[in-house]
Amino acid sequence: MSMATMEELRKKYEVVIGLEVHAQLKTKSKIFACDSTEFGNEQNTQVSPVTLGMPGVLPVLNKECVNMGILTGLALNCAIPRFCKFDRKQYFYPDLPKGYQISQYDQPICINGYIEIEGKKIGITRAHLEEDAGKLVHMGASGIAGSSYSLVDLNRAGTPLLEIVSEPDMRSSEEARAYMEELRTTLRYIGVCDGNLEEGSMRCDANISVRPFGQKEFGTRAEIKNVNSFRALQRAIEYEIDRQIDLVEAGEEVVQETRLWDDNQGITKSMRGKEDAHDYRYFPDPDLMPLEISREWVEEIAAKMPELPNARRQRYISYGLTPYDANVLVEQMEIAFFYDKVVELGADAKIANNFLMKEIAAYLKEEKVSIDETKLSVESFAELIKLVTSGSISNNIGKQLVVTLLKEGGSAKELVEKQGLSVISDESALIDIINKVIENNPSQVELYRGGRDKLFGFFVGQVMKETQGRANPQTLNKLLKSALDG
Ligand code: ADP
Ligand code: MG
Repeated sequence: MSMATMEELRKKYEVVIGLEVHAQLKTKSKIFACDSTEFGNEQNTQVSPVTLGMPGVLPVLNKECVNMGILTGLALNCAIPRFCKFDRKQYFYPDLPKGYQISQYDQPICINGYIEIEGKKIGITRAHLEEDAGKLVHMGASGIAGSSYSLVDLNRAGTPLLEIVSEPDMRSSEEARAYMEELRTTLRYIGVCDGNLEEGSMRCDANISVRPFGQKEFGTRAEIKNVNSFRALQRAIEYEIDRQIDLVEAGEEVVQETRLWDDNQGITKSMRGKEDAHDYRYFPDPDLMPLEISREWVEEIAAKMPELPNARRQRYISYGLTPYDANVLVEQMEIAFFYDKVVELGADAKIANNFLMKEIAAYLKEEKVSIDETKLSVESFAELIKLVTSGSISNNIGKQLVVTLLKEGGSAKELVEKQGLSVISDESALIDIINKVIENNPSQVELYRGGRDKLFGFFVGQVMKETQGRANPQTLNKLLKSALDG
């Protein structure tokens, strides 16, 4: 189908998207066992009998998972029902030793929330606690006699997950991406998940369907797995919209199924038919009591709620940052935390932000480090900004110095003194330099006095060169004018 035709067809169809997001909770131990959740250790070293699903063992619920579940629910405007419970979801897979996953089916910990994106509320149906499975490591054809084989690593089995299910409220790939980004930012700021899509600590399944505008019922959806970045999410949705429109236009049916996104080929491929809930034979886990969450418990957690991304954006805007800059800052949590401390020390909020977004951002990108990995301290940066705003050093000198501080650390004040970088506002010192410049450039002086006004900039440049950029610009302008115009 030609692009132009698809563009036309797109106008006939409404896109419907709902996201299921799995967030790995940042607890020290697993959801029902005491093994560490630490990432990257030797395979199968964090596997207690509970994780291995040995006969006779009993799961014990990790209270911290519940705390994080409640905190997330509150941050996402959810209700926290007084009771929730745990259910067994049965299926067989080599990375699931028990033959079932402990999850929450009909009574999840959070219900009825929303995330607001540019004034539109995207509903959150529910969020429930569950355990992660292990990992299969596919070895390829290197086994006995060239056979291919897989190994299983159960370190991840039992890691706590919070699955956050949205309503089918999104209408474009951009909206889905914005929802996902805001969800990630929120989870990071409340400290429950590190939100690393590439490493899988946050995973997203996208449900997509299309329907002709005006049709009441939803079309049949496909569920897309294996989207490991925001870009992949958007591309996968775009591909899937075209695929489904093509099917419908050809009079064929969209099959309800799970499809895998192939990022290299830029296509989705059928993986398996979609299971229905009854395939899993859900039933309440008899090893775990229903959980009663008292209102006092909820209030206790609510009292510890950190500042959420939207409030943070508003605060930065109230400092004088543009909405765009405020958003860029919020999206970079480590830098935002650093920035807050700098402003707390009395540095000008706008100038500090300028330095962070330009010189410091360029340095971090170039060196591939985070702000915490540089030698720049909060105190020294605040000091530097104060030197700039008080006029003790020029903006340009400040920009050079911040790079030195990032690389070498130390105090901004000491550096300015040691390198003699203070602004020269002293008139007699400047007049000496101006006279020298005039003396050395007689032909330019003649031209300027003959009407070539533009040459004024040339003289400013010469004085700045002589002073290594330290001349106070206002004083210089004034003195130079009177010296030249006489
Ligand atoms: P399951 O648990 O079987 O995956 P759910 O009914 O819980 O199914 O829905 C999963 C996700 O799919 C939710 O995010 C929901 O918003 C979304 N969804 C449901 N129906 C549609 C549809 N027709 N088009 C797009 N998304 C849908
Ligand atoms: Mg699903």
